[in-house]
Amino acid sequence: MHSSLSFAAVCRPEAVGPRTLSNGRGSSVIADSSAILSIRLTRAMQPDVCRNLKLRRTQVRSDAAPSAVGSHTGEFDTKAFRRTLTRKENYNRKGFGHKEETLEAMDKEYTSDIIKTLKENNNEYTWGNVTVKLAESFGFCWGVERAVQIAYEARKQFPDQKLWITNEIMHNPTVNQRLKEMQIEDIPVMEEGKKFDVVNNDDVVILPAFGAALSEMQILDEKGVKIADTTCPWVSKVWNTVEKHKKESFTSVIHGKKGHEETVATSSFAGKYIIVKDIKEATYVCDYILAGKLDGSSSTKEEFLKKFEKAISRGFDPDCDLVKVGIANQTTMLKGETEEIGKLLEKTMMQKYGVEFINEHFMCFNTICDATQERQDAMYNLVKEKLDLILVVGGWNSSNTSHLQEIAEQNGTPTYWIDSEKRIGPGNRIAYKLSHGELVGKENWLPTGPLKIGITSGASTPDKILEDTLKVVFKMKDEEALQMV
Ligand code: SF4
Repeated sequence: MHSSLSFAAVCRPEAVGPRTLSNGRGSSVIADSSAILSIRLTRAMQPDVCRNLKLRRTQVRSDAAPSAVGSHTGEFDTKAFRRTLTRKENYNRKGFGHKEETLEAMDKEYTSDIIKTLKENNNEYTWGNVTVKLAESFGFCWGVERAVQIAYEARKQFPDQKLWITNEIMHNPTVNQRLKEMQIEDIPVMEEGKKFDVVNNDDVVILPAFGAALSEMQILDEKGVKIADTTCPWVSKVWNTVEKHKKESFTSVIHGKKGHEETVATSSFAGKYIIVKDIKEATYVCDYILAGKLDGSSSTKEEFLKKFEKAISRGFDPDCDLVKVGIANQTTMLKGETEEIGKLLEKTMMQKYGVEFINEHFMCFNTICDATQERQDAMYNLVKEKLDLILVVGGWNSSNTSHLQEIAEQNGTPTYWIDSEKRIGPGNRIAYKLSHGELVGKENWLPTGPLKIGITSGASTPDKILEDTLKVVFKMKDEEALQMV
C-alpha cells in the first residue's frame, strides 16, 4: 500500500479528457475539464520546465452537479459528482426489494444439473466414455450475478416503464439476449456516439456491471431519469484509486484495453492517464522514462504520442506526466501481468529518482478483483491435469475469458474458446477463438475413444451454457459409440 505523500506536485494534472455527447436536446455536454499545453516539449525537458508551461483550460459545464465543482480550483470534482448522484432519490444501486423472486427466476434460467453433479463429485464425473474435470472456480462471479439480479429487479419494479441499458450488462450473448426479451433495450450507438435522445425523462436507465463513463452519468443526471446502477463494487474501487492518483497529482497508468467499457469508464474518472495493454507496452513506457536505458524499445516523444494516441488523456506529455505514477487496472486483466507491470513501474521510478523517494513517485493499491484472480488460479491448476482437451466457455468479447484461454494456450493443451454450444458442428467441427481474438475452425477436434476433458467458463457465463456445451459433446460421443457397434 502507498504510504504518505509529501512531494509537491511537479506538473499540474490535467483533468479528464473531454467526451462530447448528445444530451438529447440538440446541444452537447462537455463532460470533463481539459487543458492544452501551449508549447511542444522536447524529451530532454525536465519537470520544472513543465511547471512553467502556460495552460489553457476549457470551460467546464457545471450545471449537471453544481456541488461537484471545486470552488477554489474551478476543476470538475468527479468524486463529488458521483457522491451527489448516488444520494439522489432517482438513483438506486441496491436493488428494489425483489431479491428472492429474481434469484429464483435466474436459478431456473441459468443453473445446470450437470454442473451440480460435478460440484457434488469433487468437480470430476464420468458420463459414458467422457470424464469431465471442472475448474475449481468458474462462471458467474458475484458482481455479474448481482448486476443481472438488479436488472431483473428493475424490470419487476417498473413493469410499464421503458428500460434502457447504456452498454451490454456483461459480455455474454445469452444473458444479453434474455434482457432484450425482457424489453431492456440498448441505447443506440451512432457514428457520433450514443444517442441519448431516445431516453425520456421518466424512463429507467441501467448502468452495466462495468460501470458507465462520467459523461454518460452526467447526461442521465441532467435528464433526471431513474438510474439502476449495477456497477460492480470492484470496479468502483478502481475508480476510487484513480481519484486518489488525481488528488495527489499522480498519473494513472491503467493496465487495460483502451476500447473496453470498463477502462473507458475508469479513465473518465482519472486525471492524467495512460492505458497500457500489456507488459510490452509498459516496458516501452518505462524505457521512455529511463531515456532508453531499460531495453531501448522507446524512441522520440512524437513516436510515443503516436503509439498511445488513443490511450492517453488530453494534453498528455510524457516528459511531464510520467514523473509521478500510480497503477490501476481493468479488473479482468491477467492478474500476474498487472503485478508485473506494477513492479516494473516501481523499479523504474526507483532507478530514476532513488529508492528513498519512491513514495513520491509511485503509488500502488491492490485493485485486482478476487473473482478474476480465483478463475485464473483455477485455470493454472486445471492445465496441470492430464487432459485430452479443454473447453473455455464465455463471450467472445469477454476480457476475463480471453485470459483463461491465454493461460491454457501457454500450457499447450488443445483448448477451444467458444461462446456457446452452437460453435460445435456440423459434424466433428468447431469454430473457436484464440486468446488474441483470431477466429479459427478445426475439423476432427474431438478425438475418438475415451476422453478426459477440462472445462471452465468466464465470469459472465451462466452454468446453463456449460451444460448445453457438454450435452453436445456427450451426444457426439454417443453417436461415435453407435457407429462402432
Ligand atoms: S469479474 Fe470482478 S470486477 Fe468484474 S463483475 Fe465480477 S466481481 Fe466485479
